[in-house]
Amino acid sequence: MAVYAAPGQEGSPVSYKSRYEHFIGGEWVAPASGQYFENPTPVTGQPFTEIARGTADDIEKALDAAHAAAPAWGKTSVADRALLLNRIADRIESNLELLAVAETWDNGKPVRETLAADLPLAVDHFRYFAGAIRAQEGSLSEIDDDTVAYHFHEPLGVVGQIIPWNFPILMAVWKLAPALAAGNAVVIKPAEQTPASIMVLAELLADLIPPGVVNIVNGFGTEAGKPLASNPRIRKIAFTGETTTGRLIMQYASQNLIPVTLELGGKSPNIFFSDVLAENDDFQDKALEGFTMFALNQGEVCTCPSRALIERPIYDEFLSAAAIRTKAVRQGNPLDTETMVGAQASNDQLEKILSYIQIGKGEGARVVTGGERAELGGDLNGGYYVQPTIFEGRNDMRIFQEEIFGPVVSVTSFDGYDDAIKIANDTLYGLGAGVWSRNGNTAYRAGRDIQAGRVWTNCYHQYPAHAAFGGYKQSGVGRENHRMMLDHYQQTKNLLVSY
Ligand code: NAD
Repeated sequence: MAVYAAPGQEGSPVSYKSRYEHFIGGEWVAPASGQYFENPTPVTGQPFTEIARGTADDIEKALDAAHAAAPAWGKTSVADRALLLNRIADRIESNLELLAVAETWDNGKPVRETLAADLPLAVDHFRYFAGAIRAQEGSLSEIDDDTVAYHFHEPLGVVGQIIPWNFPILMAVWKLAPALAAGNAVVIKPAEQTPASIMVLAELLADLIPPGVVNIVNGFGTEAGKPLASNPRIRKIAFTGETTTGRLIMQYASQNLIPVTLELGGKSPNIFFSDVLAENDDFQDKALEGFTMFALNQGEVCTCPSRALIERPIYDEFLSAAAIRTKAVRQGNPLDTETMVGAQASNDQLEKILSYIQIGKGEGARVVTGGERAELGGDLNGGYYVQPTIFEGRNDMRIFQEEIFGPVVSVTSFDGYDDAIKIANDTLYGLGAGVWSRNGNTAYRAGRDIQAGRVWTNCYHQYPAHAAFGGYKQSGVGRENHRMMLDHYQQTKNLLVSY
């Protein structure tokens, strides 16, 4: 067991600056408004740095820098772009603790996750797209004896990216890696709740990235996000966040007729068929572990398995075993490497989750375990902690239909395969799902019948760079990860040549 020293304290790998500017054209640039906003750590609720408050003027400055850089960057060889991505990956990898602790302090998530998942995935993502861009090939069509149609991939130019607060560094990387591999220059806006760790990342990478190729403007949604997403000088907007904001982004983009990638909300079902229970074997153990995944990252995951559907014959037995397992999930100081559930990312989010817990109680759902704010003692009492909570109720309740984005799972039973699929698909969303069965046929069929972009069968919450990720229904438009992502950041040039 180890507890990392808090940033700024002796022995901590991180020392945050007291103030961060925007990162534009390879330089630190003060906000045009002259204003900054305070950024608290969810671990204790105490402010630890202040951040430039961006406005339309800053976005224009960042777009100037991106437009100045884009033509040359777009013409670099794919080998050079791949080299840059690999260098970025190496730099992150050799500063894993610095970034992991920075991310934990900014977001509240456990350092065991940032060390073992968020940052290693970020490294792998850059390496994957370094390889993918080199493996990409153009094509030609033979028209007739004298004529050939060549198809080339070209970058879009300057693209805008807006990200949320639940995986600040990883969400930035999911967007930056394919955009840069494809030869675009980027203006990115981090979430106002978690802007700081990305600035540490920018400091770390600043000397590697050609000036203007990546520009970071901080600030709030309507003040900095909207002027970016609605700007006629971008050729694409990629957004991750709430479904309601996604609708606005699409409206802005329609004014400029530019493509969007939208990664939005979810209310993912996690289905447990009767055959998962046995005499305490490994499969059963894995399924129970899969149930507790609703608390991973404090439930602040777009694919959080926030609805658990358990087949009636095993309902009571499975639920009581799952409750015991959930109570054993260790909640505590996010800087402690033993902690599995940390703090919610912001006070607003804490309040939202607590209000949904009240809504659940009010609509008659039964609290199986949890259901309160977690008081962890000492400095942590100022932080934003919620007990992992299991509700039992019906799929038409608000706690089953609305995204809570906290460590809260709503559980119900089902009768047979068709009922499971009906309940699973009875949602506006279609991002993720889990299916647990020893019967390969059942698992496969359910995987195909569930209307969701990612269905994990007999596993959950794995995010390899080479598996496509994205939403059906109101969970999004387009895909991220996988080499198909390059298509979202490129346009096709057709050269029709008569010889
Ligand atoms: P949000 O929509 O409130 O904010 C996301 C980002 O959009 C922030 O940077 C914010 O400043 C910006 N923004 C807000 N209003 C804007 C506007 N009018 N114009 C331009 N930008 C604006 O979402 P959030 O609360 O930060 O994030 C949580 C949501 O993100 C959840 O719904 C979650 O499911 C979703 N999410 C989805 C995925 C996915 O891949 N599908 C991944 C992570 C999170």
